Amino acid sequence: MGESGCGKTTFGRAVLRLVEPSGGKIVFDGKDILSIPPAQLRGIRKQMQIVFQDPYSSLDPRMTVERIVGEGFAIHGPPESISKNVKFAQRERIHQLIEQVGLSDDHMSRLPHEFSGGQKQRIALARALALEPDFVVLDEPTSALDVSVQAQVLNLLKRLQGKFGLTYLFISHDLSVVAHMSDRIAVMYLGKIIELAPVMEFLNNAKHPYTQALIASIPIPDPKLRKERKGIEGEVPSPINPPNGCRFHPRCSLAFGDCGWEGRDLVPFMIEHEKMLDPKHPMAKHIEKLRQEPFAAIADLKTGSKPDVVKEWLQSWTSELRKTVPMLDALVAVDRISGNKHILVRCRSGRIPADLLAKQFLNLLNPQVEYRERGNPLFGLIANAELDGEKVIIEAGQGKTDSAVEFVTNFVKRLRKTTNPELKALSDIRKIESGRIEVKFREGKMPVKKTAVELAKRIEDAFESDRSSKFYNMLLSVKATRNGVTLKVLGPDDNWDNLASELKSYFSGSIKKNDWIDKAVSGIAIKSAKGPEDSVAMKLKKSSEPDLVDIGNSHLVACRLCTKSACDIETQ
Ligand code: SF4
Repeated sequence: MGESGCGKTTFGRAVLRLVEPSGGKIVFDGKDILSIPPAQLRGIRKQMQIVFQDPYSSLDPRMTVERIVGEGFAIHGPPESISKNVKFAQRERIHQLIEQVGLSDDHMSRLPHEFSGGQKQRIALARALALEPDFVVLDEPTSALDVSVQAQVLNLLKRLQGKFGLTYLFISHDLSVVAHMSDRIAVMYLGKIIELAPVMEFLNNAKHPYTQALIASIPIPDPKLRKERKGIEGEVPSPINPPNGCRFHPRCSLAFGDCGWEGRDLVPFMIEHEKMLDPKHPMAKHIEKLRQEPFAAIADLKTGSKPDVVKEWLQSWTSELRKTVPMLDALVAVDRISGNKHILVRCRSGRIPADLLAKQFLNLLNPQVEYRERGNPLFGLIANAELDGEKVIIEAGQGKTDSAVEFVTNFVKRLRKTTNPELKALSDIRKIESGRIEVKFREGKMPVKKTAVELAKRIEDAFESDRSSKFYNMLLSVKATRNGVTLKVLGPDDNWDNLASELKSYFSGSIKKNDWIDKAVSGIAIKSAKGPEDSVAMKLKKSSEPDLVDIGNSHLVACRLCTKSACDIETQ
């Protein structure tokens, strides 16, 4: 369960591979269904069915009820030339299903528009049960129905579950419905599961602050028992650009300093709470504008202003508020960015090993071969693709080896022309035996920009791994550019020199001599850059998303309160 837009439906569809997941594992009956070939997947699909949210659009308006319910037999059943006996048995089964969902034989020849919403959902349910599945995804099956009809459908679902021994994945935003239907409840927020627990444990002992707020928001029909309810403050952030660290932190009343604050939280806070840009504010005559960077808020100063005055004011303001504002507990430094300087690590194009290229190619190929739906021209073309050292071995669909070779050749041409010129190092695409294609690589050339992106990541990781070092506090941003990597540094001129020599020792000590990235670094220098003469920056520490941890009784929670050795959320 979770609020609208949190990703419940996408999750349910991804479990059935109706949308392709971008990562992770889906294990059904002991098999990872993300890695099995299409032919096997087809077999498994019979065991997994779905009932969609909207019964009005999930039924084909031109098909009779009999055809809709029997659709599964047409797709997964024996070939066209089946015997009369089998056809008769299928028809019998459709009749039984129609009765089991509370409709009658009269309805068999009618079209969907002749039914009410509740009846349509019953037809959808009969269709889902036709192939005797083990697992059914119910995607908000009652949310489009009237309350009285909702109860009937829910009771029907319960009855059928008992009768056929079904496992449901029941998706809903209505906690009372979920509690009635489920054995275990998982709560999603912004695309992630944040709490998962058996139903009673969940209702009586919810641990995540978001879940607690959801439970507290269930209306109590008795006015005498009603208590003051505190809702969740703030807007749901954009799922395209979710907050760093804990996704719930901007709205959480129990958030800590290390929950994931960043520049986009700090700048609005400074503007709203301190009104720093208001002409009456003592700092307004110094500050031109406030800017947000990923983990910093930067005050650009007016010409002739005094950076040290702003710095000292910000330092005392933040230390005063540190105890009461969790975000300011995440503050690691307030300092000047003096002058227009940055550290530049220059790159030249690198030579990348063949096995790295093969891996990169496989990562690009995999999403392309996932067109597994019928009617798609690529359906069944490639069954599997895997890495074998400096080669990628592709298994073509039955009788489709030549078409698969043609597809891969064209795909490579497209990639080379557009975003991945390093794939010029691809040396051969050939059929090695019927059904198997080999794509082979030699050492290739990595363009400067791509080398810079990899290098920026490595530098950032190196400083992130030791947060106690003074260099972690100094470093404001690491950015890949066209000819290398630039690092923005906090504090006085000395910090530039210190950080530059720290980087030199990083290259001489931590990066192995035969590592391709080592050969691609051509020098480290301090450069002037365009930008304001003086700014004062406030840097927040970077934090990662809390893990889903087991706190006992199969109760999993992703919250920093719970990731501590013992969760004592109540005492916080
Ligand atoms: S980790 Fe827990 S305490 Fe921190 S913001 Fe998220 S929900 Fe709140």
